Amino acid sequence: MNELMESHKKTYKIPAEVSRVTETLEKAGFEAYLVGGCVRDLETGNKPKDWDVTTNARPDDIKKLFDETFYENDFGTVGVVSETEDPTLKVIEITPYRLEGKYSDKRRPDGITFADNLEDDLKRRDFTINAMAYSVSQGHVLDLYQGHQDIKDKVLRTVGNPHERFSEDALRILRAVRLASELGFTINKETADAIVETALSLKHISAERIRDEFSKMIDSPRPLEGVVIAQRLGLLTYILPEMEEGIGKEQNGDHIYDVWEHNLRALQHAADRGWPFHVKLAALLHDVGKPATRRWSDEKKDWTFYGHDVVGGRMAKKALERLKFPKKIVDDVSTLVRYHLFFSDVDKITLSAVRRIVKNVGPELVWDLMKVRACDRIGMGRPKETPYRLRKYESMIEEAMRAPVSVGMLKIDGARIMEVIRETPGPKVGFVLHALLEEVLDDPTLNTAEYLEGKATELAKLPLEELKKLGEQGKEKKDEKEAGEIDEIRKKHWVK
Ligand code: ATP
Ligand code: MG
Repeated sequence: MNELMESHKKTYKIPAEVSRVTETLEKAGFEAYLVGGCVRDLETGNKPKDWDVTTNARPDDIKKLFDETFYENDFGTVGVVSETEDPTLKVIEITPYRLEGKYSDKRRPDGITFADNLEDDLKRRDFTINAMAYSVSQGHVLDLYQGHQDIKDKVLRTVGNPHERFSEDALRILRAVRLASELGFTINKETADAIVETALSLKHISAERIRDEFSKMIDSPRPLEGVVIAQRLGLLTYILPEMEEGIGKEQNGDHIYDVWEHNLRALQHAADRGWPFHVKLAALLHDVGKPATRRWSDEKKDWTFYGHDVVGGRMAKKALERLKFPKKIVDDVSTLVRYHLFFSDVDKITLSAVRRIVKNVGPELVWDLMKVRACDRIGMGRPKETPYRLRKYESMIEEAMRAPVSVGMLKIDGARIMEVIRETPGPKVGFVLHALLEEVLDDPTLNTAEYLEGKATELAKLPLEELKKLGEQGKEKKDEKEAGEIDEIRKKHWVK
């Protein structure tokens, strides 16, 4: 083995929590290397999400060396806990050198066997860029499979024969696409061909695992590329087959892209803006109902998609449930898809329409719905909403969500007033309510059942004409207050 070819000198800054682990192992006479994702991240200049150490020590040796170890999993991995605020350093995993086990279910090795040397451990790893080991004490990277070169070339390649590696464990197929999407790498030709040939074995992968890799892809900086690669390699069928229906589905006049590309561009916009996961999923799925509802209209001489929001909401729910997403994600995304169509032209939309939107999606999701709308527009190749129109929408949403100024605010209602003043229904009750409202608007601390009941009794004794006048003053004050509040909101958003 030519040491020079297969390793290179490198000094990475390693957190103290991590080097303490490798030092402890080495001082006790064992070998210790950082491996896998963290070495890949160091070499690509990304911040490692977790730190994995591999060693020729066995679980019992490891547990003796670290008194705070707290678990051991099926693979002989021992977790060492560190007192730190940094979540990536809280648990450092130490895994003994292992051999590739035999796979009979395309997913899990039948048993685990420890290896005596690092080379064997690296051989079982999935991709060349994930198969490098870093010695903290020696400051060098052991790189038996040209992972460093592949990082330079931005290429993903399996360690060894790709067909064999994917046949052993089909999850690697999804990991390939996910890593390509996260890193912006291309997949090497032989590796990609083997993915196409073995894609069928994804049937053996659980929905949860597919969901987890797919979610990482969506959360990557380039989800559009990830989904496109997954589709080209024949994997989307196992993730979101309903998306594929949109390929080549031409749309109506406003659209320059087919349904598929439009959905993808919407997704990418959500990623570019750093919007939350459920907004990204909603952007991707917002027009998922279009292929099923697409009809040619002779009258319009164009395609129509009536009901695609309702159909799409249902399809999104089913798809996300199938992928075992948590209920909250399923509900939020399907609601956003269901109501994404609502916003129309800001010059035409009425406040009551906006109120209906808020009622449908709920005040928690209404701002996310605005984000999905922005993704929809950008996904159509339309310019961004002008700042004025955007502010106008926001202002209208706030206006719609504002609790109205009305007698409903009072800690007393008509029925109670009738009891207190021994009256049957009639204009007098309304006068009393509005007279009370005027007082409460002037001094909100008076809004207690006790005070209002006493005051109502007093008011009821007034001559009807006088009471009527007080009631009318109350109504005027209410209208003034309403107008004032709306004015405030509009001023805040700089709109008329
Ligand atoms: P992430 O950034 O998501 O943590 P990762 O590559 O570190 O990515 P892990 O699941 O943490 O993923 O796995 C750590 C390492 O274990 C990988 O870098 C790889 O060397 C190896 N590995 C993980 N899954 C597999 C697999 N299915 N087959 C072979 N090796 C794997
Ligand atoms: Mg990792």
